[in-house]
Amino acid sequence: MEKIMGKAIFEGIVIGEPYLRSKKQLGIEEYKIEPHMLEDEMNRFEIAIKDAKQDLKFLKSSLKGKVKNNDLKILNVHLMILDDPVLLSEIGKRLRNELVNIEKVVADVVEFYVDMFKDMKDPIYRQRAVDIQDVGEKIIGQLMVENCELNELDNKILVTKEILPSELFKMHHDKINLLGIVTEYSGATSHVAILAKTFGIPTLMGVKDVSRMEWKNKVILDTRKGDPCVIKDPTEEQIIEYKKQKLKLMAIKEENKKLKGLPAITKDGVKVILNANIGGITDLISLNNSMADGVGLLRTEFLYMESKFFPTEQEQIDLYERAYKKVEKLKGEKSLIIRTLDIGADKQLPYYKMPNEENPFLGFRGIRFTLTHKNIFKTQLRAILRVAKDKNIKVMFPMISNLEEIIQIKEILAVVKKELKDEGLEHASYIETGIMVEVPSTVFLIDKFSKYVDFFSLGTNDLTQYVMAADRLSADVAYLNDYFEPAVLRAINYIAEEAIKQNKKISVCGEMANDPMAILTLMSFGIERFSMLSTYIPMAKRTILRLNSSDLKKELKPKLLNCNNAREVKKILKDYIEVITVENDRS
Ligand code: PEP
Ligand code: MG
Repeated sequence: MEKIMGKAIFEGIVIGEPYLRSKKQLGIEEYKIEPHMLEDEMNRFEIAIKDAKQDLKFLKSSLKGKVKNNDLKILNVHLMILDDPVLLSEIGKRLRNELVNIEKVVADVVEFYVDMFKDMKDPIYRQRAVDIQDVGEKIIGQLMVENCELNELDNKILVTKEILPSELFKMHHDKINLLGIVTEYSGATSHVAILAKTFGIPTLMGVKDVSRMEWKNKVILDTRKGDPCVIKDPTEEQIIEYKKQKLKLMAIKEENKKLKGLPAITKDGVKVILNANIGGITDLISLNNSMADGVGLLRTEFLYMESKFFPTEQEQIDLYERAYKKVEKLKGEKSLIIRTLDIGADKQLPYYKMPNEENPFLGFRGIRFTLTHKNIFKTQLRAILRVAKDKNIKVMFPMISNLEEIIQIKEILAVVKKELKDEGLEHASYIETGIMVEVPSTVFLIDKFSKYVDFFSLGTNDLTQYVMAADRLSADVAYLNDYFEPAVLRAINYIAEEAIKQNKKISVCGEMANDPMAILTLMSFGIERFSMLSTYIPMAKRTILRLNSSDLKKELKPKLLNCNNAREVKKILKDYIEVITVENDRS
């Protein structure tokens, strides 16, 4: 038995056969060709390119409407790479010069470009390395079809150095039942991670050296929060135990469905607000069956990212109205918080070239962009104000770093209102405003910001990366990018204490809110509002119903704030959950 730890992406327990996919399985042989075979070899290459393109186009059209348009964009990038003249001519040139089989030439050229892009500082270019690799393997796959059948993965747990977004799309399309994924590749906010969540595949990332290990016998994949792991060669007892746990997990999911309509109230009567995050059309549709009280974060950038150009005022009005109609049907506060455009770093617009920066996450993003491009900002504020009239709609600003920014925003809001009034257009004359707290400088000025805003929302994804100085996209520093790090917890507690002192609403809308163990932590700091992916709300509600808020504050908080490392924090939380579970099961 061997237990190997990793980072959980989508929760589940799977017991099944592993399928190790390594480069060797592609079996790229190298053999010399005669000059007279050049033309045939080139023909094979051209057919492979044509088939790969057809495959991608077919995939794109068959997945339209089933997955977010934004996620489909990756397929466009792959189509562009398949047309890239530099790549194609380099392959042709090498084929003629080296006179080896085309598979080997493609593999070498792709490896060259992948290495080049992998070393670049800009995360967007580094992501390009993954895309080129994906496309390269697609071409080789076309050339050697019989060796890379994804069908072999049906009812298996894929163990691989990395899995490519297009492979996940294809398996989803071909209805291949992939039980789970174990991968060396890390990055909780990568495309692959987002797709794994969308398709509901239990996934463990950041597992070192997977492809060098032997994977023959049955494994247990446990991607629940806490100690996510894969267990190789499990004992019979372990298999029996995990089967029990799996049944329990399934029963919990069933039971959770019954929580619909019930408010999230702790045992000592504290009402907790559970809102939904919306980051694309699929999330918007999922609001239909959601247990959410409202929407705590509408990430408007998806509209900008999917449009051909900056969306017009009317296009934005249409989206915000559509979202509000869904919010009105929920059972709760029914408020909609619209966050203004947050682009830059990993979020780029296809029609707008951002400046090349050495450190894009520390650069031109969020409010820094919109305050520089005031017309773009004003168009969005006009749309929000016009839709917000007589509705429970609030506006929130991302990446706020100093007071000047909120002062400027307030001035621009006043100007926009005046312009709307002068034009005789109906709009909200008052709108609640809030800021994302995700930049450390803002943490220390909560009292000052309280004079300008009605609420604070903690962006723990960015807050964690900035407090720990650990890029949220980097696999190498993923071990530091942990919201349970004591420094992150102390920062959050400080924000909560200050906001509560100032009588301001405070919520958490980063990924941290998806995690029940984190909810315990945040509630011990006095936070009673959360916004998360709709699918995580039932589990959050279930957790809250078992808690006693004053115990958390009295007993848990001092312990957590005194921890030396994230490991200690998680141990305390796990023990605490175990105790309350036993207590609740008894009563
Ligand atoms: C965050 O940073 O936690 C957040 C919610 O914003 P985003 O993930 O969109 O940057
Ligand atoms: Mg953020």
